[in-house]
Amino acid sequence: MNIAFVGLGIMGLPMATNLIQAGHVVTGFDVSPARMALFDGKTAAGAGAAVAEADLVVTMLPDSPQVEEAAPEIAAHGRPGLLWADMSTIRPETARWAAGLGVRTLDAPVSGGERGAIDGTLSIMVGGAEADFAAALPVFRVLGKTIVHVGPVGAGQTVKAANQLVVGGIYGLVAEAIVLLEASGVDPGKGLDVLAGGLAGSRILDLKRKSMIAREFAPGFRIDLHHKDMGIAVAAAREAGVALPLTGQVAQLVAAARAQGHGSLDHSALLKVIERLNS
Ligand code: NAD
Repeated sequence: MNIAFVGLGIMGLPMATNLIQAGHVVTGFDVSPARMALFDGKTAAGAGAAVAEADLVVTMLPDSPQVEEAAPEIAAHGRPGLLWADMSTIRPETARWAAGLGVRTLDAPVSGGERGAIDGTLSIMVGGAEADFAAALPVFRVLGKTIVHVGPVGAGQTVKAANQLVVGGIYGLVAEAIVLLEASGVDPGKGLDVLAGGLAGSRILDLKRKSMIAREFAPGFRIDLHHKDMGIAVAAAREAGVALPLTGQVAQLVAAARAQGHGSLDHSALLKVIERLNS
């Protein structure tokens, strides 16, 4: 396939690289010249130029405003029949707005982090028409392992909001477990090793317990982006008319991490907030 890839950041760059390695022709664009310089494929001068020859465009941008910025260019320059898979994490209503621009659109946010992007093992939650999902599936199979069509346009982003509130909650509680173990004189490494093998086990414990205990917080997934995602989750709860009290607490914890100046650190740096509460 001829694929345009817009947004070559922490996630987008390895995803676009995997598509090249799978034999697709990929034209990349990023507003950052430094990110473009890291990309091995063809590059374009803008989102419009990138999509001009494309069958499929993938966007992997930080937030809703960047998708709103790229959308008119994609709609104006794309060929008839162009399929647009937005894999960024954005508001469900922005996904529905994008679908009204006359381009076949899927919202296909991901979970699995930078590691999943590099390994091509992301979980991909897809909203949109069944036929469009089927058309994009061969490309999604290069990028991910668990790929589920969850409903109409916007549904993918709602599932991603649910994912982010669970991930934030687990990070917060792992941070509290580390603080408890250390304050009680118990080796947190041994403690979390046992937790990882029992009912409390999770991918977060598997992948991040050692770096959290060592206080290594290089991103990964930045606190700033998780703060954006908790805002999406809280707004989705309001729109659905449901009360999610723990989601509210997690949102405040992430907001505190940002207010304390940790916005550019990995979201596992929620540990710093819990530590500060106790120092
Ligand atoms: P990032 O900030 O590393 O990458 C975003 C890239 O988009 C940057 O390189 C930036 O220069 C570029 N960009 C910004 N505006 C642009 C525009 N108008 N046109 C073209 N390029 C533009 O972020 P990331 O970590 O790669 O995350 C991307 C998306 O994926 C976010 O929505 C994030 O919430 C989501 N996500 C991230 C992770 C993770 O672990 N990093 C995991 C799952 C989902």
